[in-house]
Amino acid sequence: VAKESGKNRYHLFDTVQDDAIKIRRESLEAIRSALDNQQFVLHYQPKVNMRTGKVIGTEALIRWQHPERGLLNPIEFLPIIESNPMMIEVGEWVIDATLTQISQWLAMGVDIPVNTSVNIAAVQLQQPEFTQRLTALLAAHPHVEPRYLELEVLETSALDDVAHISDIMTDCLALGVNFALDDFGTGYSSLTYLRRLPANLIKIDQSFVRDMLDNADDLAIVESVIALAKSFKREVIAEGVETVEHGTALIKMGCDLAQGYGIAKPMPASDFPAWLSHWRPDVSWQT
Ligand code: C2E
Ligand code: MG
Ligand code: MG
Ligand code: MG
Repeated sequence: VAKESGKNRYHLFDTVQDDAIKIRRESLEAIRSALDNQQFVLHYQPKVNMRTGKVIGTEALIRWQHPERGLLNPIEFLPIIESNPMMIEVGEWVIDATLTQISQWLAMGVDIPVNTSVNIAAVQLQQPEFTQRLTALLAAHPHVEPRYLELEVLETSALDDVAHISDIMTDCLALGVNFALDDFGTGYSSLTYLRRLPANLIKIDQSFVRDMLDNADDLAIVESVIALAKSFKREVIAEGVETVEHGTALIKMGCDLAQGYGIAKPMPASDFPAWLSHWRPDVSWQT
């Protein structure tokens, strides 16, 4: 009897595992078909200087316009391909679509801030031919100056091999693009590590900004990252700025650049010009 129930258990486990493999295969096929059928879209979230009121650019954020499930956020599909070669293809689509958007904004006129950042996955950045592929993508959009493009790299994705990532970044910088270290503070960054990565911008992770006014530790982290950025002569931007109080506190601490729902949620590119013409900086930020 014992043997039999053991066998059943084994059989059950087998089925669960088969199901998991099947679901994974189906998910990968669905993402492949999303790529082939142009179901991915980019939304753009403005980045502003709270002190001057200037919109300095946007961040491109991927969405999946799923035929049955509606608009999906990246958390629902990027983890599936995180360590799959398909991540490289999706990532290239993102860069290409962003460069196309920048060209369109350029064609629309001088008042549109065209600086746009894209998120680059670790597998994408670490592929040996990343710099060549970026060069080719830039060449395909001759009206877009490389300095309009910024690549956001997760602080944690450089941890494996700082020397290697640093080399790739240096090569890309030579092309004229900029780099930002995303979600900064969530990894195990040391001073040495920051010194070795030639990123012009540090993005303070939203988890610290969200709780900084209630949590002394988070406030200390925000203050330290701002100080760190200053001493290393890097720019610093706060993510997840949701309230006027967040903005005011950040300006007091010396961080003028911000991104967050308190300024604008990510939006389709077609909404950006109208948002831009209506947006006014919150006067209370400056008080
Ligand atoms: P991220 O690069 O740190 O982007 C910021 C995320 O925070 C975005 O979520 C944005 O919508 C959200 N956010 C912005 N302001 C606020 C705020 O005030 N409050 C709150 N609660 N959230 C805010 P989203 O678009 O869902 O993206 C999540 C993450 O997925 C991104 O984090 C990025 O790591 C990744 N991701 C997005 N698009 C791409 C892409 O094209 N390629 C790659 N490799 N990763 C991407
Ligand atoms: Mg980002
Ligand atoms: Mg971030
Ligand atoms: Mg994040």
